Amino acid sequence: MYQISKIIETADKYGFTAKENESMSKHTSFKIGGDAQLFIEVTSNEGLIDILTKCKELEIPVFILGKGSNLLVSDDGIDGVVIKLGGVFTQIKMLDSETIYCGAGVALAKLCSYACDKGLSGLEFAWGIPGSVGGAAYMNAGAYGGEMKDVISSCTHIDADNKVGTYGVSQLDLSYRHSVYSENHFVITAVTLRLHHDSEVEIRNRMNDYMGRRKDKQPLEYPSAGSVFKRPQGYFAGALIQEANLKGEQIGGAQVSEKHAGFIINKGNASCKDVMELVRLVQDRVKKNSGVDLECEIKPVGRFNI
Ligand SMILES: Cc1cc2nc3c(=O)[nH]c(=O)nc-3n(C[C@H](O)[C@H](O)[C@H](O)COP(=O)(O)OP(=O)(O)OC[C@H]3O[C@@H](n4cnc5c(N)ncnc54)[C@H](O)[C@@H]3O)c2cc1C
Repeated sequence: MYQISKIIETADKYGFTAKENESMSKHTSFKIGGDAQLFIEVTSNEGLIDILTKCKELEIPVFILGKGSNLLVSDDGIDGVVIKLGGVFTQIKMLDSETIYCGAGVALAKLCSYACDKGLSGLEFAWGIPGSVGGAAYMNAGAYGGEMKDVISSCTHIDADNKVGTYGVSQLDLSYRHSVYSENHFVITAVTLRLHHDSEVEIRNRMNDYMGRRKDKQPLEYPSAGSVFKRPQGYFAGALIQEANLKGEQIGGAQVSEKHAGFIINKGNASCKDVMELVRLVQDRVKKNSGVDLECEIKPVGRFNI
């Protein structure tokens, strides 16, 4: 088994909070997931590099957690180390009158508010997407015709050799729910965003409009991970699921939302297994009904025997 004690020693050296057997249900918007073998909130760059280096030497797997809003964590938990970014990774500052530097651990909502307060437009679409800035860059999160690709100018990361590097937007390979980080699994530590000036009132109005639309259409009163499936070319996943008469379909505590068929909600005590079975049922029935393959947007993480 992994030499977790060495990583705990390293975390202690930097004063990081490290918890063994931490339930991931506390760290995911689905409120689902078994225990992470070791969960560390990392608050300095130097400490992050040290921990990543030790994990690499000891061949301990590492998972970088954002706000856990796009994850389906196994009931059997996650082997190795789960890292959450705090401390220096939660800084936001202006680099010039239209450029914001933002740590990857900052909540996207906080960044949107910060930009609005400065009278900077471009991020309104992201108001209501419940993730971190690092997670949003990794996923190229988007809504209402906007996406992170439109506003990111660069990302700073720690690469596979544990060296600090920066990619400009053209190197990020941002496309629908995809970035270069989906393949190389570098750790994003900060993002710079280029916005443009507009009236604070106008920006706030657009943010409120988008939030209102979310509240009308999405089952925000239940834990979920947002849209379960990617948008298939030429279709909407929610409409295909609804046409297959799957609204309200339930396995265990997991249910296809009655309000928005693209969401699976946790009605209380849903397990990862319940969600996985429901996902498969939806994929099968939609394929039979409309011939379309639905691909998961949510990311399975942890120990799966499938
Ligand atoms: C109610 C609801 C509504 C949603 N609406 C939308 C929407 O409109 N549009 C949309 O695009 N998404 C939406 N989502 C999905 C989700 O919020 C986004 O995908 C979000 O960007 C995920 O960010 P996160 O910080 O929670 O990442 P996590 O879920 O924690 O992680 C997602 C992936 O990113 C990786 N990651 C996270 N941080 C880092 C980092 N610093 N460095 C390297 N890798 C990292 C993780 O390892 C993982 O692979 C919604 C979710 C919910 C629950």
